Amino acid sequence: MSSTIALIIIGVAVLFILGIKLLSSPKTARIGNLVAAAGMLVALLALHKPGGDYVWSQGWTFNYTLIAIGTVIGLIIGAIGAYSVKMTSMPQMVALFNGLGGGAAALVASLEYFSGAHSLAGITAFIALTMLLATLIGSLSFSGSIIAYLKLEGKFEKPITFPGQNILNGLILLVILGLCGWLTVNATAAAATPAFITLFALALFFGVAMVMPIGGADMPVVISLLNSFTGLAVAADGFAINNLAMIVAGTLVGSSGTLLTLLMCKAMNRPVTNVLFGAFGSSGSSKAGAGDLAGKTVKPLQADEAALLLSYAQQVVIVPGYGMAVAQAQHQVRELSDELVKRGVDVRFAIHPVAGRMPGHMNVLLAEANISYEQLCEMEAINPTMDRVDVCLVIGANDVVNPAAREEKTSPIYGMPIIDADRCKTVIVMKRSMAAGFAGIENHLFYKDNTRMLFGDAKNSLQALVTAVKAS
Ligand code: NDP
Repeated sequence: MSSTIALIIIGVAVLFILGIKLLSSPKTARIGNLVAAAGMLVALLALHKPGGDYVWSQGWTFNYTLIAIGTVIGLIIGAIGAYSVKMTSMPQMVALFNGLGGGAAALVASLEYFSGAHSLAGITAFIALTMLLATLIGSLSFSGSIIAYLKLEGKFEKPITFPGQNILNGLILLVILGLCGWLTVNATAAAATPAFITLFALALFFGVAMVMPIGGADMPVVISLLNSFTGLAVAADGFAINNLAMIVAGTLVGSSGTLLTLLMCKAMNRPVTNVLFGAFGSSGSSKAGAGDLAGKTVKPLQADEAALLLSYAQQVVIVPGYGMAVAQAQHQVRELSDELVKRGVDVRFAIHPVAGRMPGHMNVLLAEANISYEQLCEMEAINPTMDRVDVCLVIGANDVVNPAAREEKTSPIYGMPIIDADRCKTVIVMKRSMAAGFAGIENHLFYKDNTRMLFGDAKNSLQALVTAVKAS
């Protein structure tokens, strides 16, 4: 590789790292995305042959035309997807795009394995093993991501589990690893092609088998993990085709995906092994804890009563959740917050790390409505202050304020950190019905003495609240 190309790739690596750094705050996330995309464009333009020439300086032969056609098709699909996807469907899109990345990495690795094996120079055992692992990881990331996509689309009612499932999956993995070992040293054998096809098929099946037993509520963690797998497969491809940009980008995706996975597990207070083998989030647990609620009733209230409570409060904490995203009520939330602030009320927003359906979901929506970042508080920061809060307004949140996570050892969400809404003097919960949230379990918060229920679509209820606060 020429030193010019090496320098360009170092620049590309800097752009990728800067992009990721900027993505860590809602204020700079947009620019971070553009910086990383610029890095990708430079990497594409610096595409080079092993000898060191830029492919673009070689003239337009058939292969380069194909690269250009692929890039344009990818750009069109990506742009249509990004503009048309609803905010609530973003995790599905991430799963789908991640799956395609994994599939592409597996195909590149397969081609390199066979073209290397049948070339004059042959293929070294190291490159053969790297390509086989990239094929394995890329294809299981592809099929696993498709299942994750279908689960988030609600195509499977329950996690699919059966006795001995983990043992069966373990056996399949052993066969796959055995095939990898054999193919590493027998790349040119006559049986290599059928063995490779078996490996590919088993890896696809393993991706399905791995994700099927995992509950819907754990899908973001799974997607993040599969994302890191795709990164590793791409980095492995980079080794084989001697492309530094792919090694850098793949390693960054692999490590940031792993970190995100661990951070999300920490936010739910569950080990990764429990997510992968625990079948949490099953809708089968929909009535968990219901027995203790026999004879208990909830206390509904009207918008004008809620408005009075809010207007005369000194401290108000708003806890947004998935229902706010569904109702697209973020602009009405800002109007209410502005109106209360005008009256001297201290209004803060409590952001739970897994509120909504994707990491950062609430931050994105509140930022879209121009709610000041200074008003947003993380769960750990706001919880110790909840005893002093006069009114906690829960807008379409359910699991993230469910005290069962603290109090009921048998609850599927036991141990998940929550926002301690129940510790405020008065809690107003806005939702449409008594339906459960994503984890499918009852919420005792709704039945507590200090809780009032404001039933209705969050947007309509908030509009009524704003009008009533203005009139009060
Ligand atoms: P939940 O899914 O627990 O609850 C959402 C609530 O919103 C429901 O109870 C629903 O009740 C209500 N709702 C729905 N539509 C409306 C509407 N139009 N107006 C008013 N209310 C509405 O949401 P949370 O944010 O509390 O918790 C997130 C859950 O999702 C957690 O279990 C988390 O693990 C999981 N998850 C998180 C992801 C992430 O990365 N953030 C990704 C995937 C899952 P009703 O129907 O009665 O109105």
